[in-house]
Amino acid sequence: MEYEIVIGLEIHAELKTKTKIFCGCKNEFGEEPNTNCCPVCLGMPGAMPVLNQKALEYAIKAGLAMNCDIAEFSKFDRKNYFYPDTPKAYQISQYDLPLCHDGYIDIELEGTTKRIGIERIHLEEDAGKLIHDASGEGSLIDHNRSGVPLIEIVTRPDIRSPEEARTVFESIKSILEYTDVSDCRMQEGSVRADVNLSVRPKGKGTFGVRTEMKNINSFRAVERACRAEAERQTELLERGLEVVRETRRWDDLKGTSFPMRSKEEAMDYRFFPEPDLLPVVIDRSLIAEIKSSIPELPFDKRRRYTEQYGLPLYDAKLLTESKKISEIFETALEVCKNPKLVSNWIMTDLLRLVNEKGKSILDTALNGRIFGRILLYFDRGEISQASARTLMEVIAETGEEPDSVIDRLSLRVQRDENLVSGVVKTIIRDNPQAVSDYRAGKTKALGFLMGRTMAALKGNGDPEQVRSLLIKELDRTE
Ligand SMILES: [Zn+2]
Repeated sequence: MEYEIVIGLEIHAELKTKTKIFCGCKNEFGEEPNTNCCPVCLGMPGAMPVLNQKALEYAIKAGLAMNCDIAEFSKFDRKNYFYPDTPKAYQISQYDLPLCHDGYIDIELEGTTKRIGIERIHLEEDAGKLIHDASGEGSLIDHNRSGVPLIEIVTRPDIRSPEEARTVFESIKSILEYTDVSDCRMQEGSVRADVNLSVRPKGKGTFGVRTEMKNINSFRAVERACRAEAERQTELLERGLEVVRETRRWDDLKGTSFPMRSKEEAMDYRFFPEPDLLPVVIDRSLIAEIKSSIPELPFDKRRRYTEQYGLPLYDAKLLTESKKISEIFETALEVCKNPKLVSNWIMTDLLRLVNEKGKSILDTALNGRIFGRILLYFDRGEISQASARTLMEVIAETGEEPDSVIDRLSLRVQRDENLVSGVVKTIIRDNPQAVSDYRAGKTKALGFLMGRTMAALKGNGDPEQVRSLLIKELDRTE
């Protein structure tokens, strides 16, 4: 029997507000533990939460970018559970009236477009961070994360394969990055996914029993977790066994998941309206204002790059994956108006440099304007490919302007015919063996002489010119 995989994702993303969601404490990662806390985020009795307007606006922005309806009336609820990372013994979240609902995103998969429903996006507060002592002595808690604003994005169960799950996660992360509502630092856990997965015989209308895997924080891990879980469930069904409704923990190092708690052990959160916060009533004009601030999103950008610039989908995808790279592409293109050339250089040389030296080089000297100028000079034949590479590396280090590096390192292509002719004559005089080889019909010898000439010109010869001058000189003195 053939089985079909059904996946839904719940993605948590920390919002990049300056302060926490219900108090004025700094929202910042990596500070000394328990330094950004106050009675509100520590859950002291009597402390009153006040909603951060910016967090609300960011959540609306994310919702609009994912084509959601924004609820004009929404409210907060208490999700009750007792765990040491939550000092109040409840989390302030949204239950039955989420801020955003009924949206969608479009994803591109092997050249076809698929629409994935977004059921809801709601606002909530993050919990503190437990640090378990390696010796087993106990656990420590850092409340700097308590009260950091989060959005939870819940997709509909429209995803049908592990690759698709990965693409949806990547697309949502990229939308959050483009709209600038989250810093999207995956390794710091600021974006993480819960995976709901079930399998069913192909063609069957109803869903199978699903399991949930929580807090997966890399694209690759989501894909692997989905693949392993789909295999595990399929195997159970094939052996005539049942899938148990449960929460499992994905261990990416071991490449397998372990049961955490079953449905019977599932917590009853006893949701009820948060009495310390007023309901949220949103003005239509605020929604319109936020809507107008949304930039062109990756899916549309990708389409435009293929249509307007004639780039292959592969290029367009790579260039739009990160907002920063797409900005560099567009700025460079204003200077060097050759889309395929700019795209090729970004995908090979620039990304190689980023890999070697870190993303920070894109924020400093080697910006889109400078990068475009280097490529313009190369496209016009004023500098060689090797010189363009040298320029990029030097500028990434020193922050100089291209022209000054070109002058300092004499990188301009040398086309002065008298000068190049002189060099050619010297090379012919100094390499009699290669010259007689060439005259005996060994064409390889010409390549050798060209190499010598280019080296004498410090790589700045124009290959066409060098070649024709060499041939002219060799034929003339024969
Ligand atoms: Zn606080």
